[in-house]
Parts: sequence; C-alpha cells; structure tokens
Amino acid sequence: MNSTANTAAKPAKTVLISGASVAGPALALQLHRYGFTPTVVERAPELRTGGYKVDIRGTAIEVCRRMGILDEIRAKSTDMRGGSYVDDAGRTIGELPADIFGGRVEEDDELMRGDLARILYERTRDNVEYLFDDSIAALAEDADGVTVTFDSGTVRRFDLVVGADGLHSNTRKLAFGPEERFKRHLGAYISIFTAPNHLGLDRWETYHAIPKKLLCVYSSSGETDAKNLFIFSAPEDVPYDLRDVADQKRLLADTFAGDGWEVPRLLEHAADADDFYLDSMSLVEMDRWSRGRVVLLGDAAHCSSPASGQGTGLALTGAYVLAGELARAGGDHTVAFARYEERMRPGVEQNQKMAEGFVKEMTVDSKWKIALRMFMVRTLPKTPWKNLIAKKIRDGIQAAANAVPIEDYTAPTGTPAAPHPTVTA
Ligand SMILES: Cc1cc2nc3c(=O)[nH]c(=O)nc-3n(C[C@H](O)[C@H](O)[C@H](O)COP(=O)(O)OP(=O)(O)OC[C@H]3O[C@@H](n4cnc5c(N)ncnc54)[C@H](O)[C@@H]3O)c2cc1C
Repeated sequence: MNSTANTAAKPAKTVLISGASVAGPALALQLHRYGFTPTVVERAPELRTGGYKVDIRGTAIEVCRRMGILDEIRAKSTDMRGGSYVDDAGRTIGELPADIFGGRVEEDDELMRGDLARILYERTRDNVEYLFDDSIAALAEDADGVTVTFDSGTVRRFDLVVGADGLHSNTRKLAFGPEERFKRHLGAYISIFTAPNHLGLDRWETYHAIPKKLLCVYSSSGETDAKNLFIFSAPEDVPYDLRDVADQKRLLADTFAGDGWEVPRLLEHAADADDFYLDSMSLVEMDRWSRGRVVLLGDAAHCSSPASGQGTGLALTGAYVLAGELARAGGDHTVAFARYEERMRPGVEQNQKMAEGFVKEMTVDSKWKIALRMFMVRTLPKTPWKNLIAKKIRDGIQAAANAVPIEDYTAPTGTPAAPHPTVTA
C-alpha cells in the first residue's frame, strides 16, 4: 500500500512571489507575520520607484492601518491643493479644488506609487528574501510543491507560487496561458515620466485637453520635479514594441507631434526620462485566479487599469485577504485560494466596470466637445449644486472603494493566525 495515499498534503510554508511593486511586497509583509517564508523575485535590477500618484480609499485604508503602514503613507501624502485646465496659450480656463480632485479628502489617501513601493519594501527587506534581476522561467508542479526554474538558471522548490507581476504577468502566462486570452484593451494608452518642474507647480495639477488626448503635469508635496501624464485614445493595440522603452518613447512622440501648449518641451523631457512608463489601459478578466499551487494577485489577476484609481487599493486588499485566508486555513491552499477569490471577486468586478466608464470619459474626440467640457469646468464651481455633484462623484468612488469587505484575521474562525503587531508610526 502506498503509505502517502491517505496523508493530507503538508501545509504550505514557503511562498515564491513574482513582482516587487505593491501587491507582492504587501503579501510578503502579511505572510511573514503569519509565519510563512516568502521570497520575492523581481525582474528589474532594483526596486522600481517611478509612476504617478495612486489613491488608497475605503477598505484599503483600513487594510493599511492593519498592515501598520498607514502613518508612513500619510507622511508621504501628495497634499494636493487642486488643479486647473489650461488652453493652448497656457491661460487658465477653470479651476477645480482638491475636494473634487482627491488628495486632501478625509476618505482618500494619496501618495506616489514609488513611495508606496518603497514603504512596503523597507518594511519587508530584513525579513523577506528579495531576488532582483531575475524572473521565473518555468514552473513544474507536483503533489508536494512547485519546482521553479529561474532565468538565472537557479532551480528551487516552493510550496506555493504567487503571480503579483502586473498587467503583463509572467506567472499568468506560464500557469494559465497567453496574455491575449485575458487582457482587454479599453481603447487608450497612458504614459508617465518625471521631468524638471519648469512650470513651477506647487501641489497643483495642470490639465490640457486635445481631441482624443489629455495631458496632466503636476508636482506633489516634497517633490522638486514634476510628473507628466499623457493619455491618448487608440481603439486597437498599437503596432509598436511595447517591451522596448525606446519604441514606447517613439510612439508618444509620434502621437503628440505637432500639438501645442507645452507639448514639444515635455516630449523633449520624455526622451531623457529614465523612469518612462507607457502601457495600454486594459482590464484583465479571468474565470479563476488560481490553478493548483499557483495563484494570481493584484493587476496580474484583475487589472482594472489606471482609470479606476483602484488598482493599488485592490492590490493591497487582495494581499491582506490572501495572506489572511492562507493563515486561517493553516496553509491549506485549496481552501485559502477559493476563499480569497470568493471574497475579492464581486468588488473587483464592480471596480472594473467603473474603470470602463472612466476611460471613455478621459478624452473627448473633438474641439467643440472640449469647449463644452471647459464651459462646465468654468461654471461648475459657481453653481449652487456644486457640492451635490462633487458628493455624487465621491459617493460613487467610495462605494467602489468599499466593495471588498474585509475580515479581521486576528480573530480567525479556523486555525489561528498570528496577531497583528501594534501599529507604529
Ligand atoms: C514602474 C511602474 C509605474 C506605474 N505607474 C502607475 C501610475 O502612474 N498610475 C497607476 O495608476 N498605476 C501605475 N502603475 C501600476 C500600479 O502600480 C498597479 O496598477 C497597482 O499598484 C497594482 O500593483 P501590482 O503590484 O499588482 O502590479 P504592478 O505595480 O504592475 O507591479 C508588477 C511588478 O512585477 C514586476 N514584474 C513584471 N514582470 C516580471 C517578471 N517576469 N518577473 C518578476 N517580476 C516581474 C514589475 O517590474 C513590477 O515591479 C505602475 C506600475 C509600475 C511597475
């Protein structure tokens, strides 16, 4: 008789996480607390600190509090004062205060993506093994674990593998199949890069609309440079090599060639930027997020595109729920993965739906529609129903931000999870 036939699989202990941005290090933080041994592999040679400002709202704020990182997040607040739309000549057309833009609102914490990635990395680096400049080349699962072959040639065993490697997830490709099966382009591209703050902005966003395009330049609290955001609509995937940064920069320059305002100067800065980011605004839609001992987290599982403003919050919440469920199930991944997905999925779908609507609103396709939008921007703050409209927008966003209910995994119903440490500043 086979002596192992009736033996339950041993509880998972070692977890390989692919991706050291937001979801990956957040999961590592929680798993380490619960007694697991996480290892994080990141393709980039060092922590990537680029990116625009990201929002943490609703449930995600409570998640950060429980992770013990909320005070650090608040210390890095962008502290935005508001923003304005400008015309071709740089003249202000209309202003919007911070309570419409976010940033200073009670129920919305906002910081730079790079600052958040750094906070999570600093919190974990002493207790978690990080493997930079490497990537998973192959996964071979058996009854007891997963044999992982890395690009570097190293071969190691892990109990579980988590793909937290973003929209173009390598783990998803290896375990579930090609990206095209799961990625749905929403009809727009986004580019972000850092450049000198030549407009002298102080915690202020400056928007400029062009048919089918939108630009935003801003500088947040404590930043000497400015962030530059370019959005353009493109109904189909573009014929550029988006794995090649030089080709991405060419795409941006070709798309905005001949446009006015500060565009020529900003494109010059784009050419020199070393944190240049360009990607399609896409959703990742999957029937399931786990297969055997492999599970996906954050954008890898359910990217809602930057338009939702919820990708980071969902990545943090997902990390909290996945770690909590693994702890509660005593490392039984079959139970934990199912519960994680069950808890996250309805809220994720609500946010993805919202993102689709937002992408359509980001750009408008003609000059007269821009003029109409500018008329509304100018008149809205003077109307008696200004607060009503702002409240309606905020309520919609808050509902989506609270769409994933979280449990207190410090009071588990199953196998006990270790208590959270005291939250420190
Ligand atoms: C440099 C950068 C800038 C960004 N800027 C913005 C922004 O301005 N606005 C916005 O809304 N969102 C931005 N995002 C996306 C945003 O961070 C995510 O939507 C959200 O925070 C969810 O995070 P995530 O950890 O699931 O995925 P991501 O933040 O996309 O992180 C995925 C991580 O996996 C790594 N990775 C990719 N492939 C591999 C591989 N083969 N092996 C190992 N690691 C791999 C990536 O380098 C990255 O560190 C940015 C992401 C990055 C990486």
